[in-house]
Amino acid sequence: MEHQKIEICEVCGAKDVLGFPVCSIFGAQTFACCEACLAVDKEPYRAIVNYISAAGHWPQDINPMYQREVRRQLKLHDIPEEVFKFEVERAIAEEQAAMIEYYKGKVDFNDCKTYF
Ligand SMILES: [Zn+2]
Repeated sequence: MEHQKIEICEVCGAKDVLGFPVCSIFGAQTFACCEACLAVDKEPYRAIVNYISAAGHWPQDINPMYQREVRRQLKLHDIPEEVFKFEVERAIAEEQAAMIEYYKGKVDFNDCKTYF
């Protein structure tokens, strides 16, 4: 695998290490990580939160295969599932708020009650 010195591992924050470009299993995103993170297929925590929050609510909207992988990742990051669930909900709420802000003045909200 192609590798080079990177300033920072995007997964664990290790600095000035040998880095590897990795494709996420959580959708179309790539990141650079160190050898230790690569060895266990550890992914950036923030990317997992973003991916799952775009797919739906945790865990009921997420298929069992991804649920298994997310739980494995949470263990690697030492993050309790309740914390993850909370952060997914917060990301969904932030995205909805950003959408409403974006459409303010562009659409008449009385016309789209079904969406908001
Ligand atoms: Zn790392």
